Amino acid sequence: MSVLVLVEHGEGRVKDSTLSTITAAGQLGPVHALVAGEGDEVQTAAQAAAKIAGVEKVLVANDPAYGQMLAENIAALVVPLMADHDAFVANATSNGKNVAPRVAAMLDVMQISEIVAIEGPDTFKRPTYAGNAIATVRSSDAKKVITVRATAFAKAAADGGDASVEPIGGAGDQGLSGFVGCETSKSERPELTSAKIIVSGGRALGSSEQFHALIDPLADKLGAGVGASRAAVDAGYAPNDYQVGQTGKIVAPEVYIAIGISGAIQHLAGMKDAKTIIAINKDEDAPIFQVADLGLVGDLFKIVPELTGKL
Ligand SMILES: Cc1cc2nc3c(=O)[nH]c(=O)nc-3n(C[C@H](O)[C@H](O)[C@H](O)COP(=O)(O)OP(=O)(O)OC[C@H]3O[C@@H](n4cnc5c(N)ncnc54)[C@H](O)[C@@H]3O)c2cc1C
Repeated sequence: MSVLVLVEHGEGRVKDSTLSTITAAGQLGPVHALVAGEGDEVQTAAQAAAKIAGVEKVLVANDPAYGQMLAENIAALVVPLMADHDAFVANATSNGKNVAPRVAAMLDVMQISEIVAIEGPDTFKRPTYAGNAIATVRSSDAKKVITVRATAFAKAAADGGDASVEPIGGAGDQGLSGFVGCETSKSERPELTSAKIIVSGGRALGSSEQFHALIDPLADKLGAGVGASRAAVDAGYAPNDYQVGQTGKIVAPEVYIAIGISGAIQHLAGMKDAKTIIAINKDEDAPIFQVADLGLVGDLFKIVPELTGKL
């Protein structure tokens, strides 16, 4: 079974989530990496993809139509390539979740979403009910379209591979969508999905000022990424891309520090795979303590500055 992996990249670098997706894809068969984009950046990313251990071939589509990863254009690029591949595999990120369903629809197959394990060529495990149960699913489709939860698979080594790089053409702009603009928040802190430590704040922080005054210095001391509960995001204490959980980001850091977060199932769905969970909450019955390895019961406004000061 040959597998086509959609590579996510930026500034000429392959994203960490794709390294994990390549590990998953390698369990199905030889991996061909599709690097689509525009200009020098995509060429640099293709060279980086060729060095990833386990990649057999890199297909590079360099065209302005692919510069912004518009799903309509990328899916039209992928579908003809599926004549030579048995599976299409993408990250379960906003990008992958945008492209894969369209590819599945165009191939008239079902999508196998957000897998966390591969049991065989047609059998996969995936979370359901906000991660409270793991379903084993089997697909009888001849072509598989799969998204991968990156935190469930180890990253492939970024070096050590020696894949061939092959330029390909594509159908170009489908005229179905256009790129208007992109606003991203720039941060010196590690990106949430690849951070080793995450300090996350909840509704209890009470305001944006207090969120940043308490959470940021602790995160800076630890070299950590900053996350938030949905309640904190909805209240405007933290930006949307900080949200951890079922409708936010799925993270699996070494250490997750939940501060003033109750531990609703939708939040746990995004962070319960963290290796060590530390919770600070004034309510000793808060559900977060059921998943926490270490718990501090008390007022965060007292504990957090004290903790930050001692580090
Ligand atoms: C479909 C759906 C999807 C959702 N997706 C997500 C998601 O992706 N991510 C997510 O986080 N939520 C999500 N939610 C919302 C979720 O159900 C909760 O409402 C949310 O997680 C609660 O956030 P919180 O823990 O910050 O707030 P609360 O539940 O209000 O908890 C605040 C906690 O802070 C503690 N506290 C208060 N004051 C202090 C103090 N001074 N010191 C110490 N502790 C204090 C309290 O004891 C409490 O435990 C979703 C809900 C739905 C219905």
